Amino acid sequence: MNNAGDVFTATMLLMMALVVFIILLLLAQAFLGICVYNRAKSKAMANALAWAFAVAGTGLIGLVAFYIASGKTVASQVCAACKLDVPLEWAACPRCNQPMPDYRALPSTGAYAKRSTKFLIGFIASMATGILVFLVGYIGYIIIMMNQMYH
Ligand SMILES: [Zn+2]
Repeated sequence: MNNAGDVFTATMLLMMALVVFIILLLLAQAFLGICVYNRAKSKAMANALAWAFAVAGTGLIGLVAFYIASGKTVASQVCAACKLDVPLEWAACPRCNQPMPDYRALPSTGAYAKRSTKFLIGFIASMATGILVFLVGYIGYIIIMMNQMYH
């Protein structure tokens, strides 16, 4: 007669799965924030930190807003002499050699983009692991509970 023990085990399993799930969800949120911060930096956006917190705090809504905003932030400048669209990291126009006043030294843009991708993978991995742990715990809970119903 260990029905009570089984129910306890099943409940503990479910609770533990839930706790791990929540921890991994928080971790995923942090990863997403860092990912957004680095993505914003790689696009030379001024308010990278604000975007990081906005997306980590609101999730999908913030992500959609960030996606739209980052799309609008075209990292380029227009040459005053020949109207050529020149990337921000160019100090002079490649066509007419006109100096570019909006020139911004962005030596680590590529590094930011790479870091952003790494944290995006971290976000997806921790989300997937969290959901998997929760599912395993939940299925285990159901199996134990159904098992003890027939005993
Ligand atoms: Zn030019």
